[in-house]
Amino acid sequence: MSTHPAPPTDPDQDRAWRERLSPEQYQVTRRSATERPFSGKYWNHQDTGAYRCVCCGAPLFESDTKYDAGCGWPSFTAPAPGARVAEHVDRSHGMVRTEVRCANCEAHLGHVFPDGPGPTGLRYCINSASLDFEARTGEPPAAAPADADSR
Ligand SMILES: [Zn+2]
Repeated sequence: MSTHPAPPTDPDQDRAWRERLSPEQYQVTRRSATERPFSGKYWNHQDTGAYRCVCCGAPLFESDTKYDAGCGWPSFTAPAPGARVAEHVDRSHGMVRTEVRCANCEAHLGHVFPDGPGPTGLRYCINSASLDFEARTGEPPAAAPADADSR
């Protein structure tokens, strides 16, 4: 009935994405596919750090806004501060949803739904295949107790 609203694709760029990405990463980010719930590597991932665009490396989400929505995909209440996340109306599959893309490279990330917790009330439901996690290391733990000179 309706064709999928994929953005116009430069064949050379498309070939480059195919070569760089895994088949699943390619299908999700460049063809707006959705990974199966509970199948991705980040839906149950709790570490502290940043989630970047798997295509271009742009910072998109932070672990401190990630929460367990029980839906089988990584869920966030908000994009990272200053993250270039673009939202588009998606009328595919007989629904009207808000699609989330990387504003830098147009990678499809997932969708945002108005049923999230917290101050935003939003749930950014993102495919693991669109993300590349970067653990935050080398950051000193906040307010380490200073009891070295108690003698
Ligand atoms: Zn990107």
